[in-house]
Amino acid sequence: MTLIASHRGGSLQWPENSPTAFRNTAALAVDQVEFDIHPTADGEIVVIHDATLDRTTEGSGPVAARTLAELRAINLTSTDGENMLTLAELAALFRPTPITLRMEIKPDPDHRPYPGLLGKALAVLDAAGMRHRTVITSFQAATVAEAAPTDGIAGAIWLVAPQVQLDIGLDGIVTVAREKGIGSVGLRVSHLDAQAQAYLRHAGLAVGAWAVNDNAAIRAALGLGVDVFTTDLPSLALALRG
Ligand code: FE
Repeated sequence: MTLIASHRGGSLQWPENSPTAFRNTAALAVDQVEFDIHPTADGEIVVIHDATLDRTTEGSGPVAARTLAELRAINLTSTDGENMLTLAELAALFRPTPITLRMEIKPDPDHRPYPGLLGKALAVLDAAGMRHRTVITSFQAATVAEAAPTDGIAGAIWLVAPQVQLDIGLDGIVTVAREKGIGSVGLRVSHLDAQAQAYLRHAGLAVGAWAVNDNAAIRAALGLGVDVFTTDLPSLALALRG
């Protein structure tokens, strides 16, 4: 069965990566909840998509330049005064559910990896007893290569950006995956068809899709039988999976 991941907590249904989104996702029959992490200036980990505060909060500037206490004082836009969650809080929210965490490790505002973020995140997951229920993802192959050999995680997926796919092709994706010990890739659903999926599977890769955000795209991903897809419309995806 194709697994469904509620992307950023279902960001076409609720404000992305917000407590409301995650509480509502926790009540759905989805298989996974997708979210994004950044470090704070004082060594905590928070759940927010962008490396900067500007788009989804009432603040501005880099997330990693602020302490957790400072970030807590900043409201998320489009919410009723909600604040971003820590990774520990998100893990606690989903622990009583059957839902798997799908944790995207984000880079800094200059697209460089944050030193030590993976290790810190694993420590938080271990404290919550959630490491074995966490799939790690990143658009950066080097980050996935670092995560893939980690003991006890539920998987590691390289999210392939369309520009990367155009630049290196499917054969390039396979080459990079083999070089870096990556066994699972996610392609943008608009850039995935049966032929591409067959090519990647024949090369031994697990294949998923992302940005599966309307009726046609959800039907396409289900029709392809991808292993898993992320969607901003988890309720529709569940209904169509039937
Ligand atoms: Fe993400």
